Amino acid sequence: MWIDLRSDTVTQPTEAMRQAMAHAVVGDDVYGDDPTVNQLEKLTSELFGKEAALFVPSGTFGNQLAIMTHTQRGDEILLGDDCHILMHEVGAAAVLSGVQTRTFPTNSGHIDIEKLKRMIRGDDIHFPATGLLCMENAQSSGAVVSLADMQAVYQLAQSRHVPVHIDGARIFNASIAISADIKEIAACGDSVNVCLSKGLCAPVGSMLIGTRDFIRKARKNRKLMGGGLRQAGILAAAGILALTEMVSRLEDDHKNAHYLADRLEEIESCQVNRNRLAINMVFFTLPESVISEAALIEGLKNKMIRINGQEDGEYRFVTNYGVSVDDIDLVVKTMKTIIDN
Ligand SMILES: *Cc1c(COP(=O)(O)O)cnc(C)c1O
Repeated sequence: MWIDLRSDTVTQPTEAMRQAMAHAVVGDDVYGDDPTVNQLEKLTSELFGKEAALFVPSGTFGNQLAIMTHTQRGDEILLGDDCHILMHEVGAAAVLSGVQTRTFPTNSGHIDIEKLKRMIRGDDIHFPATGLLCMENAQSSGAVVSLADMQAVYQLAQSRHVPVHIDGARIFNASIAISADIKEIAACGDSVNVCLSKGLCAPVGSMLIGTRDFIRKARKNRKLMGGGLRQAGILAAAGILALTEMVSRLEDDHKNAHYLADRLEEIESCQVNRNRLAINMVFFTLPESVISEAALIEGLKNKMIRINGQEDGEYRFVTNYGVSVDDIDLVVKTMKTIIDN
């Protein structure tokens, strides 16, 4: 069995999910006939304290669908400078929605409201309209945003009539890390995207959540984007279990990330970034003079351990359902052996 630290997207569906998928009652969801999808959408909207929800194929799909539904072509959207929508969605906002992006600094989770205030456009003839403001929590940098910051951003945006989308791919991790109720976090945006297929272990899918009117428009845009799935209840069945049975276990991933961070610090010149150790991700640096990236990846691979290469000079190890405390011990022991050789 591989120990896979590349991401929490590598998690496999649980046995209960496989059973639920095999026996799911399904219908044609484009006709609105799939009872399992309908159940998942109802459950999600209630859990997040919003009017409606929509099953979508991926987190990227959910974010891009939100952008398409909130904005007009030529709008400017404001978003964090290291967020997933900007860095890891292939420039889709430009291609699919024809919007331009403008970034604000997210300094390890903190958002500067005064700066943001100045970035929302007035009606000068030269300006694009500010069509959307996006927040990410938890951030893909491993940091979390406080509830107070999120509330301040939403208040500002509302006062300027700019809609807010929350990329909550890991919103449950954020909820645990900042000890805030999921409804309170969701209340800081007009729409929310949440991934079922990361730490929650569903094989496929995300949910886009918002008002009834927004979701009605998003449902049509989902069809436009080719995301109208037919007997999607097969996937929704796993999604229901993700939301009802897998949320509380995310705390284990966080504890394991802290344990991994402590153990990594036993390695000479390994620097863990403790400012971004809020969820299930450990970011650290390890100088090339100690071990080259290629040697580390190869050495771990030989012991059935998968990691990603560095991004921006940092390694990122992600704890997940398939990674136990014993696995972490083995990873650190193996790293020490590779480095000593
Ligand atoms: C993973 C992730 C997404 C995209 O999800 P996919 O299902 O991989 O498309 C979006 N935003 C954030 C913050 C993520 O971590």
